[in-house]
Amino acid sequence: MMKSLPQFQSSKPLKEVSTFGIGGPARLFVEVTSVEELQAVLEFCGTDSLPFFILGKGSNILFHDQGFDGLVIHNKISYLTIQGCEVDVGAGFSFAMLGFKTAKQGLAGLEFASGIPASVGGAVYMNAGAGGYETKDCLTEVSFVDTQGNLHNLSKEELEFSYRYSSFHEKKGAIVSAKFRLKACEEARKKQLSIVEYRTKTQPYGEFSAGCVFKNPKNASAGALIEQAGLKGFCVGDAEVSAKHANFIVNRKEARAEDVLFLAKQIQERVKEQTGVELEMEVRCIPYQILK
Ligand SMILES: Cc1cc2nc3c(=O)[nH]c(=O)nc-3n(C[C@H](O)[C@H](O)[C@H](O)COP(=O)(O)OP(=O)(O)OC[C@H]3O[C@@H](n4cnc5c(N)ncnc54)[C@H](O)[C@@H]3O)c2cc1C
Repeated sequence: MMKSLPQFQSSKPLKEVSTFGIGGPARLFVEVTSVEELQAVLEFCGTDSLPFFILGKGSNILFHDQGFDGLVIHNKISYLTIQGCEVDVGAGFSFAMLGFKTAKQGLAGLEFASGIPASVGGAVYMNAGAGGYETKDCLTEVSFVDTQGNLHNLSKEELEFSYRYSSFHEKKGAIVSAKFRLKACEEARKKQLSIVEYRTKTQPYGEFSAGCVFKNPKNASAGALIEQAGLKGFCVGDAEVSAKHANFIVNRKEARAEDVLFLAKQIQERVKEQTGVELEMEVRCIPYQILK
């Protein structure tokens, strides 16, 4: 029997749930706060062939100006338990807060997380990383619900990870929670604080963006290539190449997804012309309609 569904909203402006502050309305929008709700919603999408999109903190996505013609499922499953060096955390929990809390308890391994405005689920999905550390490094297990509503506990060994990639890109469903094994370390808090200090100095925090727009090419920095191409401050409408960090596009006020995409294309062409390097998007562009 189908479990009870949480309340759906219609016409939710997606710019309200994206750190870019861009995106038209979602046909339907729902917040899930428990595994049971997530199972019920995914089962409903499966039975009704309703296209869906799983949203974490919206810090690596560019929604379409028209919005999304389907159901946006906002993962808000948020709990944290720490026992010794073992961490069990809900996918909707803040990844930055996880980095802060674990380091404060003298646990090392997730200090880098404290500068990344992700959800834990989004960080696992993207294998988010910084300063040579990646989410996969101290991950041990991930729980995942598929589109039939079945819950799977997957060990790290059953999954694949690489630079900004996890095997969840090939799976239909949603990450529910993750487990990490950290190490006791007196220096963890000091390291975490210095990471936050460095990042606030070098990145446009507090501005509307989705972090680095392009992946770093092998042995090169996308930001340095864009800066060398003289593109810092270059604008299309209200979308601007950040003057602080050239691999960030910031929404100055009323930028449209169209502006960001046009600017990204200009950057790719200019960098290709000048260096021969092809920049690949890291930000995920969500189309208005997903083909079934
Ligand atoms: C100021 C700023 C700084 C940043 N710095 C970094 C950085 O240093 N390193 C880095 O790697 N990234 C960085 N980012 C980008 C971003 O924070 C990461 O990519 C992050 O992992 C995205 O997590 P999210 O929860 O916001 O996911 P979203 O943006 O909501 O979604 C991203 C993708 O993950 C999927 N997803 C999200 N949650 C789930 C789930 N529970 N189950 C299944 N799929 C899911 C979505 O469907 C989507 O495809 C930065 C962004 C900003 C705005």
